[in-house]
Amino acid sequence: MNKQELVRLALEARAHSYVPYSHFRVGAALLTSSGKVYQGCNVENASYGGTICAERTAALRAVYEGEQRFSAIAVAGFPEDAPPEERGYAYPCGICRQFLREFALPGMKVYIARSEEEVIETTLEELLPMSFGPEHLQ
Ligand SMILES: [Zn+2]
Repeated sequence: MNKQELVRLALEARAHSYVPYSHFRVGAALLTSSGKVYQGCNVENASYGGTICAERTAALRAVYEGEQRFSAIAVAGFPEDAPPEERGYAYPCGICRQFLREFALPGMKVYIARSEEEVIETTLEELLPMSFGPEHLQ
């Protein structure tokens, strides 16, 4: 599973989004230490606060399947009908950064895509420096 394939799966996952309010579709593809990939999408809610992001949807699917070590995630988010030249890069929100931190392997890669070719590559440590994690509770 390479970066290109993970990005493709994140873009594909956008199609599953439930976004009747924002029309902002986000897809994620999460790679775990076993080599399996879990896709997720954002799911909105009429109460707004009940909305969940694509990254956490993917993480929850992985944890449910017994996967607790994350190697990389690709995220692709932009408005439903945005032409390629008008798409931005949607970085994971603060809640998702912390949620992923719980299961992140050192150096976990984060790919932010607005198309298959246009991808920003970073790490969870860069997005969430000096973070709090499970080891602090031991
Ligand atoms: Zn989020």
